Amino acid sequence: MKVILLRYGEIFLKGNNRQFFESTLIKNIKHSLKEYQFDIKKIGGRYEISNYPEENEVDIVDKLTKIFGIHSLSIATKLESEEQLIIDAVKQLDLNNKTFKVETKRASKIFPIHSMEFNSLLGDVVLKNFQGAKVDIHNPQVTIKVDIRENGFTYISTNDIPCADGMPLGTAGKGLLLLSGGIDSPVAGYFMGRRGLEIEAIHFHSYPYTSELARQKVLSLVEKMKDYLVNINLHIISVTEIQETLNKNCDKDYMITLLRRMMMRISQKIAEREGAGALITGESLGQVASQTLQSINATNAVVNIPVFRPLIGFDKQDIMNVSRKIGTYEISILPYEDCCTVFLPKNPVTKPKIDRVLKEESKLDIEKLINNSLATEEILKL
Ligand code: ATP
Ligand code: MG
Repeated sequence: MKVILLRYGEIFLKGNNRQFFESTLIKNIKHSLKEYQFDIKKIGGRYEISNYPEENEVDIVDKLTKIFGIHSLSIATKLESEEQLIIDAVKQLDLNNKTFKVETKRASKIFPIHSMEFNSLLGDVVLKNFQGAKVDIHNPQVTIKVDIRENGFTYISTNDIPCADGMPLGTAGKGLLLLSGGIDSPVAGYFMGRRGLEIEAIHFHSYPYTSELARQKVLSLVEKMKDYLVNINLHIISVTEIQETLNKNCDKDYMITLLRRMMMRISQKIAEREGAGALITGESLGQVASQTLQSINATNAVVNIPVFRPLIGFDKQDIMNVSRKIGTYEISILPYEDCCTVFLPKNPVTKPKIDRVLKEESKLDIEKLINNSLATEEILKL
């Protein structure tokens, strides 16, 4: 019988509330594979998925690799621990012209042959049955794992498939992701989801200065992010009036700082209402004028919930690599304008001074601007 074995990552470190992490993981697995029939049970510190439709194995494995909390998986043949059955199963593998090694683990000492002996016996089987197969102990293309368990069953698998790691989604509470259409913020959401935070997203636009296509792009991003983050409620909010007001009344060089402070205030309000305990941004130190230490201080100063910036120490290239891996890159590089680029000043300040910021803001009715902006909110449950 074919089974899929799942090894989990960091959950094994958990003490008393491990049960909570494990049951959340199981719930997430069942949700992700809801279109398929299968059984799942825990056997000896890992999960075993059985009776699944083998014709859908590729899709099932693909979905499993995107569930946070799973470290790796392997597809295994499960059979009774009998020498001849194991040999026959090894003959079914695909090992022509491959370098390989055999790794037998014998938890059940009832099985009469010692691990080392069995390694070489099975090695001979491979060499006799597969053309061009060659032993390579140190760097084999295929590691044949023969796991002889105490329950009377043996599992034969080849290379492990790495999965998403992290903590099960939803075990760390909820965070509100400030999602632009750029490369960084989807990656930031991915990393915080990987630490178990359920992700809700907020996107600011300045329609009609920004287009319908820019909005569509954000919807596509969210759709893609759902591969990992499952359900994402998206709050879409207009900052058009804010930007027009800033443009009319304030020092142009301070536009971005002022706008970002407004975004943070609005985000905190939404986060509080939705029960999100943190904001998340895609900021990376020094990447642009609004992400210098002084700028981050200036925007951070208006909120009093934690702001997670998982990319703060990342280089752009590293962020792009993750973005490609999670599939958001191709969408992020579509050329539609973001609201931050509307009314873009020629010389945005890189070191905003807080007294200047306050002086500019004293020209505004901040509360009214925020409330008007909040009144434009659209909520999409994606
Ligand atoms: P990104 O690639 O995520 O767009 P960026 O390099 O363009 O980031 P900024 O424009 O300075 O950087 O934005 C920094 C962060 O502020 C973004 O990562 C995102 O979290 C948030 N942000 C920027 N614009 C918006 C927006 N229109 N709606 C929601 N959040 C935004
Ligand atoms: Mg951007």
